[in-house]
Amino acid sequence: MKRRSFIGKVAASGAATAVLGQTATASPQEPRKPTTVTLLGTGTPAPSLKRAGSGYLVEVGDERIIMDHGPDAHHRMLQTGVKAVDISHAFFTHLHYDHCMDYARLVLQRWDQGADLIPDLLVYGPPPITRMTEQLFGTDGVYGPDIRARIEHQSSIDVFTARGGKAPRKRPAPRVQEIKPGDVIKGKDWSLKVGKATHVQPYLECLAFRLDAPDGSLCYTGDSGMSDEIVELARGCDVLIHMNHYFSGTAPSPAYRAACGNHKDNAQVAQRAGVKTLVLTHLLAQIDQPRLREQIVHEIQQVYSGKVVWGEDLMQLTFKGAVVANIESGY
Ligand SMILES: [Zn+2]
Repeated sequence: MKRRSFIGKVAASGAATAVLGQTATASPQEPRKPTTVTLLGTGTPAPSLKRAGSGYLVEVGDERIIMDHGPDAHHRMLQTGVKAVDISHAFFTHLHYDHCMDYARLVLQRWDQGADLIPDLLVYGPPPITRMTEQLFGTDGVYGPDIRARIEHQSSIDVFTARGGKAPRKRPAPRVQEIKPGDVIKGKDWSLKVGKATHVQPYLECLAFRLDAPDGSLCYTGDSGMSDEIVELARGCDVLIHMNHYFSGTAPSPAYRAACGNHKDNAQVAQRAGVKTLVLTHLLAQIDQPRLREQIVHEIQQVYSGKVVWGEDLMQLTFKGAVVANIESGY
């Protein structure tokens, strides 16, 4: 999909900043690609053609990382030109369906097109993601009969062989690791710290992620209300991606506010954490209106001195020298 820059160059004041994480290993002949994050889905559980379910694609060096994969996030990923076989890691903040419904599509299309020629997908998420994976792809799982047919029927074996596979075909086998706050996962030149979100515990474990790459740092809070843990996890990040579900003062109950936060809460979190850019996501259609949108951003800016971005599907943020150097819209 062709992108157009609609915000243009973001001011890069203080661009000569500390390099985060480990040193990039790209050779002079092949400069390292800048780290990018693409918003695949900025919606909510409410049906929407404009905003897919929660999903983010982070590209660091030659590794492509998915954070959450809600309904239609996979479609958005295809729109960026990235396919399931290109993904190396998938992280899930929590197992609300609007954050994980396209997990099965990611695994099955990667398995089918990968023809046993690519490494197993590395999957990280809170319990019970191991059980969910088994219930989806195990012998007695939801897709068990389909998987068996594709492994054993001659027509499927022929397609598998034509793709370069060597029979007997293996079952899809994502390597799942259940994670908890405090865990650290390392990639080739990035590291991800797991934090605690405040959302719908104890019914679902809810996590937040901070990813540090050589050229930038990103905190994605999954779904969360305001909390000291989120502030600490996000401290000093270049980008904070935070749910901005509803308009402050319209929460139906204190429990709702505690689980989802609101735009004034988000302003405080961003200001206390000292992040450079706050990206608002998980936006209900009710607040995704021209007048309300400007009011929300304005009110956040009364508290928070950094940059505020109203997220949209396929928006891509590019890091350079530990600042967001460019923001492009996919539309
Ligand atoms: Zn949720």
